[in-house]
Amino acid sequence: MIPGEDIIINCPSCRKPHKQGSIASGNTFGASYFSDGKCVAPMLREFPYFVKCQYDECGVFFKIDNSVVSRKKPRLDKIPPVRFFSIDEYRQGINVGLFNSGKIGGDEWESDILALRMALWRSFNHRIKKKDFDEIIADMKANGASDTSIFLETFEFEYYRQFGQYNWFKIKMSKIMQDDISIYVIDGMKDVDNVEKAIYDDNCREIISLLENKSDDESILAKAELYRNIGKYDMCKNSLELISETDKYKDFIKAINAACDIKSTLTLLVERDY
Ligand SMILES: [Zn+2]
Repeated sequence: MIPGEDIIINCPSCRKPHKQGSIASGNTFGASYFSDGKCVAPMLREFPYFVKCQYDECGVFFKIDNSVVSRKKPRLDKIPPVRFFSIDEYRQGINVGLFNSGKIGGDEWESDILALRMALWRSFNHRIKKKDFDEIIADMKANGASDTSIFLETFEFEYYRQFGQYNWFKIKMSKIMQDDISIYVIDGMKDVDNVEKAIYDDNCREIISLLENKSDDESILAKAELYRNIGKYDMCKNSLELISETDKYKDFIKAINAACDIKSTLTLLVERDY
């Protein structure tokens, strides 16, 4: 991965500048694919699309489209970087909407709300819990890790907690065997408390209803997965039957079906045959 130049983004409300990194080139070598459609590629850094203005007196939520990217090259040192939303910020963004989503209730507004809800869903699925992090540190200590490496790990975790993004593939997964198929589930939504589970399920149901009239394979696959996430395994399997390009999605269909059979609602690592 070759980093590119920083770009300048002007808040669409107060017009003040923010900066964001970029990549000059990257690839999906060594990428991991998940049943919720997320792809984590070590050679392809992700940048946020939904952001919050970092100036206290403004603080609006907005998306990074062409209208906010500046052609100017001001001095970068004192400009705050944009960052990923936290789970709470996704929820706030869904409630108040984005500053640059057009008319409330219009097509652009609706498609941005759907994208925000999908992003909230994936944030829940892929999060790293404090409990899991504490275990990582305890293991490191037991194996004689240096104070420096523990400090760096802690720093990165705090960054993740604050900004909702991790820089490397550190989520905790469990392996389950079912009829010779190994199923890898992400532990992010395991043992979640009732309040968060209600927020999660409610968001899943909202996305299902927003995808109601969409019949493309990607939408059908997302619907199937959302049904499974809320424990509706029959609805999940019925949706999978509606996918037309079955060969293209066969690894996803196989993994999701197997997870239904063991009644797991957790997000899966999808092993792909190529
Ligand atoms: Zn602003």
